[in-house]
Amino acid sequence: MEPSYDVVIVGAGHSGAQAAIALRQNAFDGTIGIIGDEPDLPYERPPLSKDYLAGDKAFDRLLIRPEGFWKERGIALELGTRIVAVDPNAHAVATDNGHTIGYDKLIWATGGAPRRLSCAGTDLAGVHTVRTRADVDQMKLEVGKVDRVAVIGGGYIGLETAAVLSQLGKKVVLLEAMDRVLARVAGETVSRFYEDAHRARGVDVRLGVAVDCLVGEDQVTGVRLSDGTILPAKLVVVGIGIVPAVRPLLDAGARGGNGVEVDGLCQTSLSDILAVGDCALHANRFADGDWVRLESVQNASDQATVAAKTIAGLKAEYNAVPWFWSNQFDLKLQTVGLSTGYDAAMVRGDPRSRSFSVVYLKRGRVIALDCVNSTRDYVQGRRLVLGRLTPDAQRLADPAVPLKELEG
Ligand SMILES: Cc1cc2nc3c(=O)[nH]c(=O)nc-3n(C[C@H](O)[C@H](O)[C@H](O)COP(=O)(O)OP(=O)(O)OC[C@H]3O[C@@H](n4cnc5c(N)ncnc54)[C@H](O)[C@@H]3O)c2cc1C
Repeated sequence: MEPSYDVVIVGAGHSGAQAAIALRQNAFDGTIGIIGDEPDLPYERPPLSKDYLAGDKAFDRLLIRPEGFWKERGIALELGTRIVAVDPNAHAVATDNGHTIGYDKLIWATGGAPRRLSCAGTDLAGVHTVRTRADVDQMKLEVGKVDRVAVIGGGYIGLETAAVLSQLGKKVVLLEAMDRVLARVAGETVSRFYEDAHRARGVDVRLGVAVDCLVGEDQVTGVRLSDGTILPAKLVVVGIGIVPAVRPLLDAGARGGNGVEVDGLCQTSLSDILAVGDCALHANRFADGDWVRLESVQNASDQATVAAKTIAGLKAEYNAVPWFWSNQFDLKLQTVGLSTGYDAAMVRGDPRSRSFSVVYLKRGRVIALDCVNSTRDYVQGRRLVLGRLTPDAQRLADPAVPLKELEG
């Protein structure tokens, strides 16, 4: 007989795991099955481009819960299994090995697949992405044999990977199509700071460059830019974002596009189907209600908790303040809020001191902070973002004034 669960969770990543944990925490005693296409127990992805790539953390320290936890809580894990179709009328999903699994409630928690370059050469050996343990294990096997690495994409993952690889002694060139790194997520001060930090550590940061193709026979040997320059590299890392893994849901009729649309309770437009994490497109109060997809541990955990509560009959709207972190070299960036659409940015402290923060404002209200080696501002600034407060500009710009004094 085909299996069936009260709750089926598709995706054994951060949000899928957290949804199951939160269901049990909220006294849900029905059957739960998590179906994931990776072979591994649920694990944390952030270390993949940080200490795991550097070799400073073993894989078992990435596990979200130890192996025994899932059995003890009566949560079935079907790993190495991909869901290829959803039938909302029959309340069933189809696996890639020809099985059907029934559900009462379905939580779609599939994250996304790395966006691929659309040019020639992306299938050559030595071309990597950084999304899964398998991606990084393969990269680690090859990295010892190469001197030169090209990283394509100056977002968080590209920068973190470049930092680790340069610390491993590789000559790294980082290629960014825009005129600054982190252009999508941070203001110019933060971008320039990170460009300088990477250059000071020997990373060759090139901005405003277009990749024409990757060159090589079977093995990649370099990156050709649109001006014809060929940059030699036997290892190429592509970090240009993700494409949300929502095809089966959209094919089943769910509303969406760049992700699947969910309401404040994490419900999709299909009844009994919820979605959470990187794949969930939602109206976010910290983006003035605009539809966004957030790719962060915070969002994955908080949406998963909301979805679990929705299923457990405890209504809890998703309203969490976004936060994120990134580690590069000895620099810890912590962000709170969403800076998109800011009309003023105030720098607290001197970036040359390697400890500063940037406060983003919109019509005088604080909407976000980026804090570099400045945990105090990060912790205290949170309330300014939560309340969208309008502190005095002069005092805000003075790093000697603690942000908690500006709440009044
Ligand atoms: C290298 C890296 C570094 C990061 N660093 C940070 C950081 O410093 N701070 C931070 O806040 N966030 C960071 N993130 C982002 C964070 O890890 C993600 O936001 C989070 O993992 C999202 O959780 P998720 O459950 O939505 O997706 P995922 O964790 O990606 O899990 C989705 C799972 O579903 C599986 N799946 C997809 N389709 C199917 C299917 N059809 N059937 C079955 N299984 C399927 C996927 O293979 C995957 O295992 C980082 C991400 C990466 C990749």
